[in-house]
Amino acid sequence: MSNMVLETRDLSKEYKSQRALKHVNLRLRQGKIYGLIGKNGAGKTTLMRMIAGLGFPTQGSVLLFGTKSRSELEAAGKRIGSLIEAPALVAGMSAKENLHLQCLMKGMPDYKIENELLELVGLKDTGKKKVKNFSLGMRQRLGIAATLVGNPDLLMLDEPINGLDPAGIIEIRNLIKKLSAFENKTILISSHNLPELYQVATDFIMIHEGEIREVISHEELDDRCKCYISLEAVNANQLAAVLEEKLHTENFQVMPDSSVRLFDFLDERERVGRVLHENDVIITEMSVCETSLEEYFMRVIGGKKHA
Ligand code: ADP
Repeated sequence: MSNMVLETRDLSKEYKSQRALKHVNLRLRQGKIYGLIGKNGAGKTTLMRMIAGLGFPTQGSVLLFGTKSRSELEAAGKRIGSLIEAPALVAGMSAKENLHLQCLMKGMPDYKIENELLELVGLKDTGKKKVKNFSLGMRQRLGIAATLVGNPDLLMLDEPINGLDPAGIIEIRNLIKKLSAFENKTILISSHNLPELYQVATDFIMIHEGEIREVISHEELDDRCKCYISLEAVNANQLAAVLEEKLHTENFQVMPDSSVRLFDFLDERERVGRVLHENDVIITEMSVCETSLEEYFMRVIGGKKHA
């Protein structure tokens, strides 16, 4: 099992009367991309801020890279890069100048990493172009490059694709995958764009009203999202009869269009196909219908799915 990068224990945060985080117990492992999912006000930014040391928890603790003492925690904090809210970039400077400034601010004046980082995020050809003339996607990539100064092990990206066009979203997706695959970074990323998050994350953390409701791997999610096998046959009555008599199930429904929804045997589709074939049922269509990440999330937090 991969190394633990971060653990929160009973992490809670109250802002005056507002309980933003409630007893959060989380464990993040190296090299994974965690998609943080929650509605507005669920506590996503607060969680990232507490982990990044940008605020103090009311209760509980954060264990980074296995450390706990305050001095160790301070050093460990340098192994975190975070892009929370808009990237702090100077509009009148070039990409390279911005990264140099980041190096200075992080106390690394002689750190010659700018070109390498620009190459990594696909901005090496921007030359003297000022950031104010960058597209939003380029700015976000530069913002991510800035978080990489100091070579952190854990990256936290709060809504990094907000406002990006489809091309910009793909650029960020590819960058995140590259950072995970080739640099072995652990990434915690929040987004409202759940289909996009589904494409990039290896694991999902679902947060609602300050509580972690579920942590689930991509594979587990796929498994749980399978809801039924959709079958279409030349003769739906014959199909239904074989399901009952040969596969001994009544857990299916014949739809008005004569297709059949089979709620059993989701992991035994081959067997279903074989038994139907052996009993001369001519199948014209067989597919597995799945719920989306959004529908699954709504189920987890106990709400109705979006229209
Ligand atoms: P999210 O990032 O999921 O939208 P936040 O972490 O920003 O959620 O907010 C969680 C809750 O905490 C919300 O109810 C929000 O109004 C409240 N909150 C966040 N920051 C502050 C603050 N600085 N002062 C008071 N309340 C805050």
